[in-house]
Amino acid sequence: MAEIIDGKKISAQIRGSIKEETARFIAETGVTPGLAVILVGSDPASQIYVRNKKKACEEVGFKSFEYLMPESTTEEELKELVNKLNHTSEVHGILCQLPLPKHISEKAVIESISPMKDVDAFHPANVGRIMTGDYNFLPCTPAGIMELIKSTGVEIAGKKCVVVGRSNIVGKPMAMLLLHANGTVTMCHSKTADLKKECLEADILVVATGKAKMIKADMVKPGAVVIDVGMDRDENGKLCGDVDFDEVSKVAGYITPVPGGVGPMTIAMLMRNTYTAAKIAASR
Ligand code: NAP
Repeated sequence: MAEIIDGKKISAQIRGSIKEETARFIAETGVTPGLAVILVGSDPASQIYVRNKKKACEEVGFKSFEYLMPESTTEEELKELVNKLNHTSEVHGILCQLPLPKHISEKAVIESISPMKDVDAFHPANVGRIMTGDYNFLPCTPAGIMELIKSTGVEIAGKKCVVVGRSNIVGKPMAMLLLHANGTVTMCHSKTADLKKECLEADILVVATGKAKMIKADMVKPGAVVIDVGMDRDENGKLCGDVDFDEVSKVAGYITPVPGGVGPMTIAMLMRNTYTAAKIAASR
């Protein structure tokens, strides 16, 4: 049976150490890290994410600024708010909860965030920095996954790593981080000719497809580290991942559960990025 990678526990440890560092930082500089979260519209899942982010800020000793805007908000109005926050010294990180309503260009809004406050690391300037390995912030989900892999003690260098899914927020940056850690990386997607064959070669398998339980036990190398990013619903409407946990946990060496795996890490990494942004701002 695979060892369960406990994302909840690891996330709590990281948030605990950020809390301690933040208290020291505030005492030394008088600066309290601040995160502004903008939510446009009333998507229930987004409302939960925003609430959790606010709670996490309070827990680690940050200031949190919440902007709840109606669905009818125009792109110009949203960019105006972002621009104001770009120039607000108490705000070190700006996060615009995605998805945005269809009449607003996500690309335009992301590009309006100052790269130094872009704690999601979605701005093209930060994406480019991730490519070259010279970055201030890493996108939260892949950064959290790197912590989860580190917690297993399995060395990435020289290992065959397979990432299933090539989204800009998970798959692509994930592959880049594994490459920076000297893994030999294969990226798979919906047009991959033989997904099973590719997955079977993986010492480290990261799955981010949004397709419930699509990775089965016969697709996993015995002993592999399996990271499940998916947040899906099964046939009974129950939360599950992209990996068939019950089957795959009999084959894998280490596996993340859903919930309680990757999800909690994303918020911990957001706190880390906000703290980093505050430190950079204070040193200028
Ligand atoms: P996305 O933008 O929809 O991308 C999905 C990717 O999976 C695409 O690259 C797609 O290939 C690939 N794919 C879909 N079906 C496939 C198949 N049958 N075989 C191989 N590849 C396939 O998704 P995302 O934003 O990366 O999110 C993926 C999942 O992670 C979702 O369940 C999401 O809710 C979850 N998520 C969780 C967190 C967290 O904090 N826990 C954070 C972000 C996302 P093509 O490019 O060829 O279409």
